[in-house]
Amino acid sequence: MFQDIAPYQFKNEFTNRKPAETDYVIIANNDQFLLECQLGVPTIPTYASVNRFFPQIADDIIYLFSIDDKAFFLSMHEASEAGSFRYYGIDIFRCLEPSWTAFAGATAAHLALWYSTHQYCGRCMAPMKQGASERILRCEVCGLIEYPQISPVVIVGVIDGERILMTKYANAGYKKYALVAGFMEIGETLEDTIRREVMEEVGLHVRNIRYYKSQPWAFSQSVLVGFIADLDGDKNFTLDKSELSEASWFARDEIPRDDSTLSLTWDMIEAFRMHDI
Ligand SMILES: [Zn+2]
Repeated sequence: MFQDIAPYQFKNEFTNRKPAETDYVIIANNDQFLLECQLGVPTIPTYASVNRFFPQIADDIIYLFSIDDKAFFLSMHEASEAGSFRYYGIDIFRCLEPSWTAFAGATAAHLALWYSTHQYCGRCMAPMKQGASERILRCEVCGLIEYPQISPVVIVGVIDGERILMTKYANAGYKKYALVAGFMEIGETLEDTIRREVMEEVGLHVRNIRYYKSQPWAFSQSVLVGFIADLDGDKNFTLDKSELSEASWFARDEIPRDDSTLSLTWDMIEAFRMHDI
């Protein structure tokens, strides 16, 4: 999956590390990210490269995380496109090569979006300050503390014996088959979210809910939590046309092929096809 970067190791411990020339820097401007683009191929720039074009950011960067011994930093300093540097939306990180830099870039972008939308206290509007020993933002006027924002999403493979329910979104850019999914609401258990989403999207009851795997998903600032559940009762669904354009039951040998194993959704679908779930 997208986050599986072995043999590289994602290291998330909070430190106040200073950048080395070979470390990486993401310059973020709202929801746009400044990358170096050589021969049409965007890459995350090194500190040395950023410092050459944008020396003003040197004193204004935030340590994010490391992958092996390479640290990643964030700058929210305003910078214009210069040299081979170009701005991109977050989706550029779906396809950076090598793939560990795609995961690193997306994770940096998730943190960048949180920092950029929490610069001022939501209660008293004073500027927020970075925590010295943990990843928080604190208001020095009223004491409000903000933690990095991660919205839980459930993905559920609804199974009726030898068949799995696959869906297509009505409006989203994603046109391939998916599974029933949705954001958790305040006050719900994950199981509550699953039962509500399955009922809302396809009008079915489920039972025997069991955990599969999870996936950090920066593109919706989420953690995706995958579950399998058995159909309970009537298998005739009613589609929520505002959310879905299609839903169908697929036997294992009828499931369409997909060339991507990056998403939790398709990891689950492939696991079902291979009789692993
Ligand atoms: Zn405040």
